[in-house]
Amino acid sequence: MFENSGPAITIIDENGRYLMANKKVAASYGKTPEEFVGRSIYDFVPKEMAERYIKSNRRLLARGGQREYEDTLKLPTGEERSFLFLDICLKDDDGRYFAIQSSGIDITERKQAEQALRLSEEKFRLLIENSYDIIYTLSLDGILTFVSPAWTVLLGHPVNQVVGQPLLTFIHPDEVATCMTALGEGLIAGQPVKDFEYRACHMDGSWRWHTTSAVPLRDEVGTIIGVEGISRDITERKRMEQKLEETATHDFLTGLPNRVLLLDRFTIAAALAHRNKARIAVMSLDLDKFKSVNDTLGHGAGDQVLKVISTRLTGLIRASDTLARVGGDEFILMMMETDHMGDATAIAQKILVSFKEPLLIDGHQVQLATSIGIAIYPEDGQDLETLTKKSDSALYYSKGPGRNQFKFFNDGDVRMGGDHRSGN
Ligand code: GH3
Ligand code: MG
Repeated sequence: MFENSGPAITIIDENGRYLMANKKVAASYGKTPEEFVGRSIYDFVPKEMAERYIKSNRRLLARGGQREYEDTLKLPTGEERSFLFLDICLKDDDGRYFAIQSSGIDITERKQAEQALRLSEEKFRLLIENSYDIIYTLSLDGILTFVSPAWTVLLGHPVNQVVGQPLLTFIHPDEVATCMTALGEGLIAGQPVKDFEYRACHMDGSWRWHTTSAVPLRDEVGTIIGVEGISRDITERKRMEQKLEETATHDFLTGLPNRVLLLDRFTIAAALAHRNKARIAVMSLDLDKFKSVNDTLGHGAGDQVLKVISTRLTGLIRASDTLARVGGDEFILMMMETDHMGDATAIAQKILVSFKEPLLIDGHQVQLATSIGIAIYPEDGQDLETLTKKSDSALYYSKGPGRNQFKFFNDGDVRMGGDHRSGN
């Protein structure tokens, strides 16, 4: 056993002379065990190392017992290898400690693996700690078991107030259900989640848009024991997207819907009206003598007027109606008509009356009025283009004899006159 054992074993006396060596040791130095016996430790290691060994061996022999330590040895090939040694004191027949049996196992590979692991752990720790993204782990019941410092940077809460809490307490109520589905039916069933968007609460009470990707976390035998994921703040991107969407569908100055959104709403309203045999009133409005506001108070004041009028008109209509700005001082109001022309008449009158109240712009009282033309779906047209052409014709007739009034396209004179605006 001694001869052929895996560990390198020597028996060395207090003067550093080898009494025995097994094949493993001898072979490392290109010798047979027999050639080893009788040689001194000075023959195999540098002088000061040999001295250090002999000194510490003597100390061990003086007290008896055993010791364990790691050391790195330079082999005759020049290669350095690490060993874990177990030294045991041996007694002679008189009960005196006379030699040390030293067995060493080569732990070079293990040390290298440990070092590589330490380096890669260090690398990942640095990545996690310095990442702008939140790295997190969850237990199977949705409790946050780890969050990286980015959580505090992005959401304010100190890490120790987050770890141990259920993830859902930080999620916007509107996204809790989808989040639970992704967690429960997806991740815990082994499905990764990619780019899941949700709002997370900031310590200051606001909501931040985040996107997350996560994978199931498994133990060595592959059992799912939790979730690990990475989250990124996308609040700014969401804001830009919303802004883009808004500018595509809304008027920049007043924030009112533009023609694009109006057409979209009309399409839905027309389908509904068709099914319910209802009517839709399309009302064209054009402010009377609006140019004079620009001329007397300046373009900025004119803009202010447009904004105030938009707010005022929005206050008069139902939430289901749409007021769109479609030109400089032109608006279109689309409303579901329940009573034949009765609702449109009532609203048109209300609008005209509302203009009697002067607007206060930059300390100036501005008195304005508007002219209105009205077309009715389905009598005057089936599509928005036809309807607005006709409501514009009616508007033209309102402008003609003195402004500040409304006309239906269906009024005899308008219909007879046809589409004046497009004819101009
Ligand atoms: P009318 O009674 O015939 O409607 O006369 P009006 O002065 O209102 O003239 P019209 O409707 O033909 O022209 C609208 C004017 O509104 C033209 C332009 O000077 C002004 N305008 C158009 N867009 C804007 C805007 O965004 N801001 C401001 N301040 N003025 C605008
Ligand atoms: Mg005008």
